[in-house]
Amino acid sequence: MCAKVPPRGAAMHQPMNILATREKMTFKASITRRVLMVKTVAASCATLSVLSAQAQTMLLESDSQAKTLGYKADASKIDKKQQPRNEAGQICSNCILYQGAANSTLGGCPLFPGKQVAAKAWCSAYAKKG
Ligand code: SF4
Repeated sequence: MCAKVPPRGAAMHQPMNILATREKMTFKASITRRVLMVKTVAASCATLSVLSAQAQTMLLESDSQAKTLGYKADASKIDKKQQPRNEAGQICSNCILYQGAANSTLGGCPLFPGKQVAAKAWCSAYAKKG
């Protein structure tokens, strides 16, 4: 009729050990969630940054500054008579002023603030990189 009494000490520590383990697991899960949230926010910011760069307007050949500098979106289509300064192989992506990343198709240029120039474009302000 008597309930079996657990040995001294053992019964008292077991529930606390389980509780401690659960607290550790909850704490670890909490940290993992925080890390995941931070990584998600960081990834979102990076994506927004890329989208923001892409959202910049593409420079048009009809832009008044572009016309002044003889900008052509495709350097291979430049009329050499009109642009005698142009030489084969000169494109924005190897110009010192080009701000696009390596292998990018578009990038910024300080001569056209807020606009993106094509990596294969050219203008008369071209200066060979490095
Ligand atoms: Fe391209 Fe260089 Fe002219 Fe800018 S200055 S448009 S990067 S050729």
